[in-house]
Parts: sequence; structure tokens; C-alpha cells
Amino acid sequence: MDVASSSPLSFQDLGLNKKTLTRLAEIGYESPSPIQREFIPIALTGKDCIGQARTGTGKTAAFMLPSLELVDTRDRVVQVLVLAPTRELSEQVYAESRKLAANHSTRFALCVGGRPMGRQVDDLQAGAQIVVGTPGRVQDLMKRGCLQLKDLEIVVLDEADRMLDIGFRPDIERILRSCPKDRQTLLLSATMAPEVVKLATRYMESPQSVDLSEDSVVVETIEQFYATVDEDRKLPLLLRILALEKPKQVIVFTRTKRGADKLFEIFSRRLKSDRVACIHGDLPQRKRDRVIRTLRSGQLRLLIATDVVGRGIDVSGISHIINYDIPEYCDDYVHRVGRTGRLSSDENGRAVTFVTLAQGGELTNIEKRINDVLPQYEVKGFQAFRQKERTRRTVRRFGQQDK
Ligand code: AMP
Repeated sequence: MDVASSSPLSFQDLGLNKKTLTRLAEIGYESPSPIQREFIPIALTGKDCIGQARTGTGKTAAFMLPSLELVDTRDRVVQVLVLAPTRELSEQVYAESRKLAANHSTRFALCVGGRPMGRQVDDLQAGAQIVVGTPGRVQDLMKRGCLQLKDLEIVVLDEADRMLDIGFRPDIERILRSCPKDRQTLLLSATMAPEVVKLATRYMESPQSVDLSEDSVVVETIEQFYATVDEDRKLPLLLRILALEKPKQVIVFTRTKRGADKLFEIFSRRLKSDRVACIHGDLPQRKRDRVIRTLRSGQLRLLIATDVVGRGIDVSGISHIINYDIPEYCDDYVHRVGRTGRLSSDENGRAVTFVTLAQGGELTNIEKRINDVLPQYEVKGFQAFRQKERTRRTVRRFGQQDK
């Protein structure tokens, strides 16, 4: 994605300091992405701000660059707290933040569940100034007295909509109540679901909004299709698409953990064990980490994932997304498809969503959400439906489109 094309503004114009600008040049960030362009100037004023943008659009730098400007590196207290919904996403935010902060001497701590507390406590005691973590572990560390928020200047709620979906609301509210009243609150969310608005109204002060959701919903670097298929023909269709597309790396999304396990079993019999993996919330953290590492290294060709864990994956080499099961919520579609065609990748991504007879309406809802009509993915010689149902399906689909 050419971040420069729609923007005459440079990072210098945003009011960032020299150290930061040098670092951005070193890591090859030539110009700000749309969310960075809009969000950074507001965040630098100290005002509360809501940014509506999906992952993969550069939103970590949007909140982290202003945070780095603010941190007093001589003061060894927690000044910035970033809450994110999953361990994987927290790790990504942590890694990206440290990359951005390499010219600053800022101290970080990553506080996520599924990891030994010892190292996290050590990092906090050593004077971490920026803490990134999941609400559960952050609260645990607060209860134990290892994490103090009294000097906090900025709290960031990353992927706020998903944190609320997962059921983190009580944790988030307790954490926010423990933060100083005069802090700055930055909220990032792909959607402005009513729950997010409620949270913002309660815990933010006259927030300014930056809405890039329309811009980012349909990413021009992703070619999206739907493919009609009978439930019991999904596997042959998947195999056929994989053979046709020869993806460099593909994520196959299923709705359920059991569905993911089942597909994994099938593929692990067909592919070498280091080329296929499965990731979902029931797997131990160590295993999840290993999977993400092998995906990032390019070793893994096929990853089968469920929504909660899959959504935060920021890996630039993913060429294809297959929605083996159509996502239950339209926003999940946006998140799943956003795993490919990343800002950090030069190549276009392709996404195919499997739609069964009964799911015409769900496809229409997704199309409404992304404000686009998906073209059908044609597979020559592949019969998607049992013959007698073909006409009914076509009628149904056209009926949906007319509504
Ligand atoms: P995020 O939305 O924060 O997950 O970022 C997605 C990817 O884009 C990450 O790999 C970042 O390193 C990369 N990125 C963020 N901002 C820029 C930029 N201005 N120019 C180039 N790459 C960027």
C-alpha cells in the first residue's frame, strides 16, 4: 500500500521530535498512513482521542509515537499503559513499540497471561515506563502491588471493541478507575459498537474522533471473492483453491475451535508437520507462540485459525485468506481479511469466503458492511452444490441482493 499517495503530509509535519524522525527513516517509514496522519496531531495535544481503524493500517505507531514523545525517560514509573485484547496482539504492539523506540531509552514491560509473572514483575520493578498487556494480567499485577498506575499519563485501549467482546469490560473499567483522572485516554477500535461508545462516554473527556473505518474497510490491496458451496463440499473446494492459487502463506478461518482442530487433522496428514498449524484459544501459550514464530519466519504455509486469536496476527507474507466458515459477525470479516494485503507487505492479498445455501443473507450483510459486492470465485469443473439445489440457490442469492 502506498501510504504516500493520499497524503502530502510527512512525519515532520506532524510535530514529532528529531529522534523519532531519525528512527522512522531508519526503519523505512517514509510517510504517515492515514490513521497516523489524523490521529498523531490530536494525540500530541494531550486530548482524548478515538481512532476508528482496523489493524494493519499502522495504528500502533499512531498511538505509540505520541506516547514516546511524552515519556520522561529519567522518571522510572509507569507513564503509559496500553491494553490489548489478546496476548498475540499485545506482543505485536510491544514489538512494534520497541522498534519505534529504539532511539529513545524508554523502558518497557509486556504483561500478558500465559507467561511467567517473574520476568514481568522484574521489568516493572526495573522501572518500566510503558506497559503493554492484556486486561486480566494487568489487573493481577495491580492486585499484587507490582504495577502502580498513579503516575500514569496516557492509557491506550487498543482494539477496544474486541476487548469488550471477549468480556474484558469489568477488568477495563476497574483499571480505568485506578488511573489518575487527569490522564489522557486514547481509544482505538475497528467499529464504534454501542458498548464502545458507552465506555468512551464514561471514561473519556470530550474525545475527538478520527474515523477511517470507511477508508480501511475495503482495502484496495485485497481482492475479495465469495464461493458458493455445500457444507459437505467445503473440503474439496478448499483443496481445489489451494491447488489453483498456490498461496505463499494462507490462513484458513473456521468458526469453532473444534472445526479448526478437525481441518488441522486432515491437513497434517497431507502436509509436512512444519508447514501446517492450527491456532485457537484452547492451545497453550507456548504452542501459540511457536506457531506465530513459524508463520512469521515463512516456514508455515497453512494456518488454521479461529477469530479471537487470528485477528491480531500481523505477518506481512500472508497471500491468501480463506473463510472456510463465513464469519458470524461482519466485523470479523473485516478483521480476517485484513490479515492479508498488510501495510508492511508489497503484494496484494486474495480472500475467498465460502458461502453455503443458507448463508446468502450473511454474505449480503458482509457486503453491506464493506459497501461492495463481492465477485464470485469461479472454479471450473467444480460443482458447488448438489444439482437439484442449484436453481434455488441462485434465486435466493438474487433475492438477497435486491433487498
Ligand atoms: P499496525 O496496524 O500497527 O499493526 O501496523 C501494520 C504494519 O504496518 C506493521 O508491520 C508496521 O510495522 C507497518 N507500518 C506502520 N506504519 C507504517 C508506515 N508509516 N510506513 C510503512 N509501514 C508502516
